Amino acid sequence: MKVYQRVLVTGASRGLGAALVRALRERGYSVMSVARSEGELRREIDLLPASQRERADFRVCDLADPRAAAALVDSVQAHFGDFDVLINNAGAGSFKPLVQWSADELAAGLHLNLLAPMLLARAVLPGMMARRHGMIVNIASDLARRPLANMAPYVAAKHGLLGFSSSLLREVKAHGIKVSAVLPGIIDSAFDGAVPGSKDEAWALKCDALAGRIVDLIELPGSMVIDELAIHPLHQDF
Ligand code: NAP
Repeated sequence: MKVYQRVLVTGASRGLGAALVRALRERGYSVMSVARSEGELRREIDLLPASQRERADFRVCDLADPRAAAALVDSVQAHFGDFDVLINNAGAGSFKPLVQWSADELAAGLHLNLLAPMLLARAVLPGMMARRHGMIVNIASDLARRPLANMAPYVAAKHGLLGFSSSLLREVKAHGIKVSAVLPGIIDSAFDGAVPGSKDEAWALKCDALAGRIVDLIELPGSMVIDELAIHPLHQDF
């Protein structure tokens, strides 16, 4: 059931974000794609049939830069109207010991994985609350619930994103706004330099299949919310 029309997806140039954009466009949504890679975003739109192109747009933004993140929503709203759904999907993490992280790298990681979702939520919520209509989906990770050595900054940010998501839902649901956190296990994407398509689906989620389940979330009846969706490949150790 289609409850919403206009969706902003961050991290839309590849991986899960690009799959989300494809799934949303196929189901008739107007989608604004955001990432740093202008060429990838532009290519996705150029490949669309003309009938879908008018419902597609993109913005280039480095979400590790808090000023850029805050400016993004103003610029986008001016050209695209108000959003019904924000999907905070952009994220990155590296597998290395804490002592090898510089202070700047730590700050950039927290900005991208935790502060940007908060800034974007803060920017879209006033419009959603005025319309009593809207949804925020935060793509966290199963690492929002469990530890992993050599990924402490990323795990900390994802724990924070889950706490933010759960708390915000309780704050805004009385205004007619839903907030959902998605906690995927391993995804077969380019995350941390991996080669997309190189992992067996028994232990890595395929982006298109996962994206479909996330779009299902936003198509629940208005009176229903899945506040947390944990989803794993069956044979991942979790
Ligand atoms: P991915 O293939 O590496 O894609 C990450 C996306 O985020 C890209 O579109 C990238 O675009 C964007 N991004 C990265 N840094 C950015 C920045 N500074 N500013 C704006 N956009 C930025 O990874 P993925 O697996 O699809 O990850 C999607 C989400 O799922 C992330 O939140 C990730 O933490 C989460 N997740 C991943 C896994 C996994 O195993 N891969 C598991 C659980 C959760 P540009 O480079 O063009 O900016």
